[in-house]
Amino acid sequence: MRYSEMFLPTGRETPSDAEVASHQLMVRAGMIRKLTSGIYSYLPLGLRVIRKVEQIVREEMNRAGAQEVFLPAAQPSELWIESGRWEMYGKELLRFKDRNMRDYCIGPTHEEVITDLVRNEIQTYRQLPRNLYQIQTKFRDEIRPRFGVMRCREFGMKDAYSFDADESGAEESYRKMFDAYTRIFERCGLGFRAVEADSGSIGGSFSHEFLVTADSGEDGMVYCIACPYAANLEKAEIPRPEAVKADPSTFLPVEEVHTPNVRTIEEVCAFLSCKPGDVVKTLLFSCDGKPVAVLIQGEEEINEIKLKNYLNAGVVELATDDVVLEVTGAPKGFAGARGIKCRIIADYSLINMKNFVMGANREDYHLKNCNFGRDFKVEAFADLRMIKEGDTCPRCGKDIRFARGIEVGHVFKLGTKYSKAMKATFLDRDGKEKLMIMGCYGIGIGRTAAACIEQNHDEEGIVWPVPLAPFHVVVTPVNINDGRLMEAGERLYRELTEAGLEVLFDDRDERAGVKFKDADLIGIPWRVTLGPKRIEEGKGEVRNRKTKSVEAMPLDGIAAFLKQEVASALDI
Ligand SMILES: [Zn+2]
Repeated sequence: MRYSEMFLPTGRETPSDAEVASHQLMVRAGMIRKLTSGIYSYLPLGLRVIRKVEQIVREEMNRAGAQEVFLPAAQPSELWIESGRWEMYGKELLRFKDRNMRDYCIGPTHEEVITDLVRNEIQTYRQLPRNLYQIQTKFRDEIRPRFGVMRCREFGMKDAYSFDADESGAEESYRKMFDAYTRIFERCGLGFRAVEADSGSIGGSFSHEFLVTADSGEDGMVYCIACPYAANLEKAEIPRPEAVKADPSTFLPVEEVHTPNVRTIEEVCAFLSCKPGDVVKTLLFSCDGKPVAVLIQGEEEINEIKLKNYLNAGVVELATDDVVLEVTGAPKGFAGARGIKCRIIADYSLINMKNFVMGANREDYHLKNCNFGRDFKVEAFADLRMIKEGDTCPRCGKDIRFARGIEVGHVFKLGTKYSKAMKATFLDRDGKEKLMIMGCYGIGIGRTAAACIEQNHDEEGIVWPVPLAPFHVVVTPVNINDGRLMEAGERLYRELTEAGLEVLFDDRDERAGVKFKDADLIGIPWRVTLGPKRIEEGKGEVRNRKTKSVEAMPLDGIAAFLKQEVASALDI
């Protein structure tokens, strides 16, 4: 491609709404332009990167035995009503009516459409398993789109859906996708971790997120320094502490203390001269409409996903003030387990606590010296809190580390959630009608490109790893009015292209400094500079964008050298 003909508007200005490096650089490098909030156009340079990601994804999905389909973006409400998600999905689902006033949405995901397709076509176990995927535009009406194409409303996604006759088949499909994703992100040249994620009612290790490690990432993860355990923060398990049997003779008498204007844990500690570790918080939740009291140590935080899974509930939310008043007999802020009128569960953090402080279920009062068993009973102790610094690996007990990342892929075993709701059944070999077992597997295409930039950039701009680079080489004659330089440039452009490399020929009538700045900004892995001094010797300068190393090389040898470099970078 000749730079002079390319639609490649680079700029020095950082857009005011761009908070992260990838967003700033994608705009400055002329890859994307914003149309409106959370909706972007890809320009030629950006699209070249997107196509590279897609190509790697396609090759690995095909290798794993999945088949490509292309499903509609516009979806009728009937399917969503059938699955129960028309109401559940909320405002992220972009809904509209057609001319006949029928309800539609723009697909944010395609479980309904694919399940409908498959249930109509697959009748027997002989037609299973199947894994179908597509690369398509999705729309999710994010409340707060940001970070450019990283968290936008309209985005390209690869989504795949597997259908199996039995559990072991579904697990095999899951494993194949896990392996394919590992290869995909390796081939993209990304540093990433596959972490255990919440698998809801499915349980077990059947949900993994693929996170590209980056400090700017929105997702937190923990990983073990000694074993392969890694999980996102919501999922990360905390081992049950060893319980030491409490001696009731050490229980002090309960004391009710007047604590006016004392509500927060800090205020309680200051007033009663105790530590947050001596206080038990009582939080009231509404679990599918029924109140549940959840007890946790003062300085810990409830993990609502763990709570929801433990309760096996559909909707878990903090109880309203009315409910608090009803079950505790006091306004919000004074709840305690003693005398409360609902189920009580407690976090592991409390397992060995005694003589602790708690709300008194009476306005402006707290209790001192409360004890399990004597003052109230809990239904169970469970893992209900967020993991934090100082916790240890739930598998091997060694130290854990915290890191941040950007979620670029997710593999998930769905089980029979959709096949049950939408009656996707087949006749098994025993002649019985059974539900298909499904899995779903997503990769954010634009987000993968953006995550790559988060991980690969410097002061000057993007530093593309070769597999996702929009071009492999930029050929830069420092002065296009010098016939010798242009002649050598044209020849090199031809030779490199014939060698199978993707070449940008900077034939613009610009100062060398401008050309170098643009080449660094758009991040092409190799630059060949043609200047008057070296050309006398029949040489050009080959510069590596990442290492910034420069080597003068005979013009004749450059194509062979770069062909070899690019080939080895693409080979995994
Ligand atoms: Zn471990």
